[in-house]
Amino acid sequence: MALIAQGPERRHPQRRSLPNRRERDTDERHAASPRRVRRRRPRRGWIGHNRLVGTRLLLVRHGHSRAEEDGIVGGHAGCRGLSARGRLQVQSLARRLDSAGVTALVGAVYASVLPRAIETAEILTPTRGPVTDCALCEIHEPTRDGQPRVPSNLRTVEDFSRSSSPRAESYAAFFERAARRLSQIAESHPDTTVLVATHAGVIQAAMTIFGGLSAGQGFQLAIDHASITELVHDPPTTSPFSWGLVRFNDATHLDASLGPGPVL
Ligand SMILES: [Zn+2]
Repeated sequence: MALIAQGPERRHPQRRSLPNRRERDTDERHAASPRRVRRRRPRRGWIGHNRLVGTRLLLVRHGHSRAEEDGIVGGHAGCRGLSARGRLQVQSLARRLDSAGVTALVGAVYASVLPRAIETAEILTPTRGPVTDCALCEIHEPTRDGQPRVPSNLRTVEDFSRSSSPRAESYAAFFERAARRLSQIAESHPDTTVLVATHAGVIQAAMTIFGGLSAGQGFQLAIDHASITELVHDPPTTSPFSWGLVRFNDATHLDASLGPGPVL
């Protein structure tokens, strides 16, 4: 799937200046031509159009991490950055974004405070440091942080509203926290391409909350390391949709040695 470099800014209809005489004459000649086919401009939030307009949010899951390699939970204490394989995955994405002209369009870069996300952002945009934000972290579970990974204890929908310990977030609270921060970021960068280096849980939160679902309901999502999920945010003015989904878990830049399997 080609990652297309969209124009850096859209032109708001109300900001357009009136046409001068030469432009009016040109428009009239074109209007008089029977062969002229007038192109429609995409309307704000028009989901039927394949290019949505608004703030473009590129959510990138970090590359494979040393904590995963060691089988421990990589929270604030346990995260020790990317593994060698993880760096190769992110470098592959960096080459793709760069060659598609997307890196040059990025107007803001964010990452969680965890080293694997910060490293991911730094590889993707080496000329600028990311704004780091704890609200973009995976679920906060301090008692499990740095401990051996164990299988998930989520069994029922109700489990998503329960915390694993008094200081831990529930998944429902985690999803709300992550989605709220992503909304704030989108609203503070209108009509900008924003790159967010983050975690599978944050991307799941975005898909759940912005998709109008509840934690523990809807799809369980497969989100690969160094994959891109692209959302577009546009305040609902002429459309009921404030979020659009352009791509999900796009990891076509990873070959079989770096990704989950052969790329289709
Ligand atoms: Zn945090």
